[in-house]
Amino acid sequence: MTDATPAAFAAHTANRSAQSDIAKQYIEQSQVDVVLGVGEDYWYPAGNPGYYPDHPAEDPEEASKGTQGNLVERAKQLGYTYVRTADELKQASGRKLLGLFANEEIFQQRPEGEGDVYNPVVSLPDMTKKALDVLPQNKKGFFLVVEEEAIDEMSHENNGSLMIKAGQQLDQAVAVAKQYAKRHPDTLVLVLADHECGGLTIETPGGTDESGDGKTISGEDGPFAIARSSQTFALDWTTTSHTAADVPLTAMGPGAERFVGVYENKRIHDILEELLFGKGRR
Ligand SMILES: [Zn+2]
Repeated sequence: MTDATPAAFAAHTANRSAQSDIAKQYIEQSQVDVVLGVGEDYWYPAGNPGYYPDHPAEDPEEASKGTQGNLVERAKQLGYTYVRTADELKQASGRKLLGLFANEEIFQQRPEGEGDVYNPVVSLPDMTKKALDVLPQNKKGFFLVVEEEAIDEMSHENNGSLMIKAGQQLDQAVAVAKQYAKRHPDTLVLVLADHECGGLTIETPGGTDESGDGKTISGEDGPFAIARSSQTFALDWTTTSHTAADVPLTAMGPGAERFVGVYENKRIHDILEELLFGKGRR
């Protein structure tokens, strides 16, 4: 919740790793209405495990490490309803919502072939649905950022099957947003990436593996079924890092036509600012 993408929209710190400062800014300064995600460890001080126990078997290094006191208690004082599970999220009412559904990441990364894990306690489409129940109660409108982090993280691990699983979660979250936008045609929906990861290519199965950084081929990268076809495909990677490959952006709703073309990613910020606040602001 307090990692780079959401932080860029609602906090200012000199260092992205100042995650407790970022959390504090969300609730005290930016006053974000709906905060749903993972990373509970940055909201509780060391020694207070919070809801998800410190040092769990799946990742013994995870433990509360907050530097700004008990920010969950602080959020409650500021009027947030705090939820920890899928059931609590479903039942929550109120206009300000804080949900933290894991100690740190929403996934576990393991060495190649040893089985990364991606089984979120609350799915991204369910978080999106809840956010779109709560936010429109504000008559002034709303701005919602939904990030699927495991697409990038599983690409860093060169894990094709979990990257696809994460991509399907994003796909379902986008479907939720599009359903909302169809009922509320004054909604702009953007779907985009901040960068490519992995130098991913799609290949015929059985070819030579070129996975980067000396990694060997594993069952993680296919073969995968091709929809509405009897054929299959495999994935191959050239790096475990980000690349400078162009990424696609799709848009629907008012202002969508402003995003046509090829441009630097920071232009998206400029257009969004104009659409939100009008041209005079810059
Ligand atoms: Zn990354």
